[in-house]
Amino acid sequence: MIETGRLMAILAHPDDESFCIGGTLAKYAAQGVETTLICATRGEAGKCGEPPICRPDELGSVREAELRRAAEVLQIGRVEFLPYRDKELNGVDEKEIVARLVGLIRRHRPQVLITFGPDGLTCHPDHVAISRFATAAACLAPAHWAYPEEGAPWRPGRFFYTGMPCSYINAFGVSHCVPRADSEVSAAIPVGPYLRQKRAAIRCHRTQSRCIRELERLTDPTIRSGERMRHRDWEFFFDPFAPTGAIVDDLFETPQAQSTGADWPVGASATTKHSADDSVRTYPEADFATWPCATIHSPSAGCVAAHGSPRSRQPLAWTATQ
Ligand SMILES: [Zn+2]
Repeated sequence: MIETGRLMAILAHPDDESFCIGGTLAKYAAQGVETTLICATRGEAGKCGEPPICRPDELGSVREAELRRAAEVLQIGRVEFLPYRDKELNGVDEKEIVARLVGLIRRHRPQVLITFGPDGLTCHPDHVAISRFATAAACLAPAHWAYPEEGAPWRPGRFFYTGMPCSYINAFGVSHCVPRADSEVSAAIPVGPYLRQKRAAIRCHRTQSRCIRELERLTDPTIRSGERMRHRDWEFFFDPFAPTGAIVDDLFETPQAQSTGADWPVGASATTKHSADDSVRTYPEADFATWPCATIHSPSAGCVAAHGSPRSRQPLAWTATQ
């Protein structure tokens, strides 16, 4: 039982929190964990809805309000916006934003820190950029010599990238997300009891109506069987510093090598966790700079991950459809 846990997510846009980790945020809030969301932009360059519900110049404030409503639904304890513009995150002063993030980590002292992976999940340049900045901040926050003006050093106990394993992407036919190898899942969080909250939070982002339709498909409560049923009630996290195969079902838990804390994916875990070819590492951790984010994904042909590392430019060793 977690009594005084603190969890922080550092993401790029209003809606990232609900779409990617809404179930996890709701679950930990319900357990009494203090949840903090850092949102780097107000999403002012996004869509205004279909049909539009505001003018483009109003979009930033409308999306801020949408996020605050979603945060209430997910019981997020604290939301802080950074003063950056949507679609411009990649060009901001890196030292400045990392200093800000180091300061926030040190002030709120999360034991668990979540951000996007180097692929940005969808390759969105803002997602890729915030991943880079948050990763740097997570590494520097514990260093007493780094940004001493930003407060006392703090080391988040666990650091995760949100992401989707290959079998999940295959099950739902998600075409716009970068698959990661199932063998790399570090934490599979059961969020079934919180799917209603997640769906309600997603619906708060009314300006993003197109995405809402897609995401409601992934959380459809009427799914009763099959691969989709086996995957729907989970959210997945990847710890770049944890050993492959050490999977837990609680983000606050420290992994043991070869631990089997999570029973995801039910029935397939024994084969996928330990038989996938470890030489096919979809995301080598130190490869941020060379991430072209070329995603090749074909549900009908199984799941193929492609990106900048030549050694990874080959089909995964297994697919969920085989
Ligand atoms: Zn986003």
